[in-house]
Amino acid sequence: MAAMVIKTLCIGCGVCSQMCPKQAITVRVKTAHVDETLCDECEECVFACPNGAITV
Ligand code: SF4
Ligand code: SF4
Repeated sequence: MAAMVIKTLCIGCGVCSQMCPKQAITVRVKTAHVDETLCDECEECVFACPNGAITV
């Protein structure tokens, strides 16, 4: 399954977007969104998020 953002925990900091090697994450209206067609489940974003707001 592609990475999933827990919206109640995401603060829209954009760190995950910067770390994603597939450019699969965009931040819109202070929440990260994952393009499931681009995500390869590498989990970089999971480790990068300071709020534990992404799971794979
Ligand atoms: S799991 Fe990897 S490819 Fe998928 S959104 Fe996170 S950093 Fe990007
Ligand atoms: S790193 Fe975490 S808190 Fe920051 S935008 Fe991504 S999911 Fe949201």
